[in-house]
Amino acid sequence: MASVTTTIELITREEALARPAAGSTCSPDLAKGPWAFDAPAAPAAWAPSYGPGASMADDAPLSTPRQGQIPEEYRLASDAELEARILAAKQKLGEKLVILGHFYQRDEVVRYADFVGDSFQLARAAKEKPEAEIIVFCGVHFMAETADMLSRPEQAVILPNLAAGCSMADMADADSVQACWEQLAGIFGTEPDADGKIPVMPVTYMNCSAALKAFVGEHGGIVCTSSNAATVLEWAFERAQRVLFFPDQHLGRNTAKAMGVPLEQMPMWNPRQALGGNDEQTLLDSRVILWHGFCSVHKRFTVEQIEKARADYSGVRVIVHPECPMPVVDAADESGSTDYIRKAIAAAEEPTVFAVGTEINMVNRLAAEFPQHTIFCLDPVICPCSTMYRIHPGYLAWVLEAYAGTGTLPGGEILNRITVPESVAVPARVALERMLAARP
Ligand code: SF4
Repeated sequence: MASVTTTIELITREEALARPAAGSTCSPDLAKGPWAFDAPAAPAAWAPSYGPGASMADDAPLSTPRQGQIPEEYRLASDAELEARILAAKQKLGEKLVILGHFYQRDEVVRYADFVGDSFQLARAAKEKPEAEIIVFCGVHFMAETADMLSRPEQAVILPNLAAGCSMADMADADSVQACWEQLAGIFGTEPDADGKIPVMPVTYMNCSAALKAFVGEHGGIVCTSSNAATVLEWAFERAQRVLFFPDQHLGRNTAKAMGVPLEQMPMWNPRQALGGNDEQTLLDSRVILWHGFCSVHKRFTVEQIEKARADYSGVRVIVHPECPMPVVDAADESGSTDYIRKAIAAAEEPTVFAVGTEINMVNRLAAEFPQHTIFCLDPVICPCSTMYRIHPGYLAWVLEAYAGTGTLPGGEILNRITVPESVAVPARVALERMLAARP
C-alpha cells in the first residue's frame, strides 16, 4: 500500500504566485492515489478521517461513508490514459450525461465538468438538464443529495468517491439537533407570542445533510446559502423571535452582525454540553443561537494574513468568504459567496491585486482566468478542502465507464448512486422552496 502523508506542503506566497494555476496543492500521495487512503490494503488500518488537507484535524464520525476499493486498472492508469477513457465515455454518453464540478474541485477533475459553480448553482444546473440519465457530481455528499432532491426521479446522481463528505456538514447531525430542539422547547415553549412569532426557527446552511434540511422543513424553517443568508434571516425574523442557525457559526455570526444583531445576543450552542453550554437567561435573551460548527478550510484565514497582504501590496483588495471567522471578515474589504468573489474579480476593470480568502483550487483558477489581475490566496500554506480532493480522475473514469460500457465493464451500471428517500426529500424540499421564495 502506498503511504499517504498528512504533511501539508508549505509554499510561500511568492512561490504560490509564481506557480502555475493548475496542479496539486497538497500532499502528492493524496493527489495521486486517494484510494490508498479510502480503502487501505489492510482493512483494519482504516479509521474514520477526512484525510490530508484542511479538515485532517477534525473528528470524522464513525458513520462517515466509506469508499470501497476500485478496480486496479483505474488506480494504476496514467493521467493520459484516464483522460482518454473519460473523454471516450463522455462522448459515448453524450446528452445522457452531465458532469457537475464545484468551484473548489481540483483542476484534474473539474476540466471535465459541463457546469462549474457553487453547490446550489450546480443542483439547479442538474434540474436544467432533464435529458441527462446520470448526473455525476464532482463535489461532496450533501451537494449530491441536494441534486438528487431537485432532479427528476429517473435521473441518477452519482458521487464518484463516497468518502467525499464535508467536515462542516458532519458537525451537526440529526440526533444532536433534535436534542437541542427539545431543550430549547423546554425553555421557550412552543406557542407564538402576541405578534404571532414562533419562539425559535431553525435555519440551516445548505452545507448539511438532507436529514437536517428535512428537520428544518418539518419545523417551519428554511435553508440558506452564503449568497442569500441575510435575506433568509430577514424572512426568519419576520416569523420568529429568534433563530437556531446551523451548522456554520461563522456564516451565522457574520450575517447577523451585519444586520445589527449584537454579539451578546448570539450565544453558541455546543452540542456536547447541557443547554449548549449556556444558562437559560442567555438563551431567552438570544436572537441567533449559533451551532458550534465551522469549515476548516475557511477557519485557516487570519487577520495577520490580511495585515501582511496589505503591507506587501499597496492597494490590495481583500475579499473573503463569510465562512471565515468574524475578525477576518471585519478586517477584509469585502466578503461574499464564491459566486460573489468570482463576479467581483470579473467586474474589476483596472488591473488589481486581490487577496482572496477561500479554497485554493478556486483561487488558483481565478488567477489563471484573470491574468490581468494579481490574485493570490491569503493563506500561504496551501491546504485544499480534504473532501473535495477525494475525487480523483480514476474514480471519475470508473463511474463513467461503468455506465457507458466503454472500458472493461459491461455498461449500464450505476455506481455510487446517492439517493434521498422521499420521506426525507419531501420536507427537505419544503425548506428549499421557502428559500427560493424568500429570494434574492
Ligand atoms: S470547503 Fe469547507 S464547507 Fe466546503 S466542502 Fe470543504 S469542508 Fe465542507
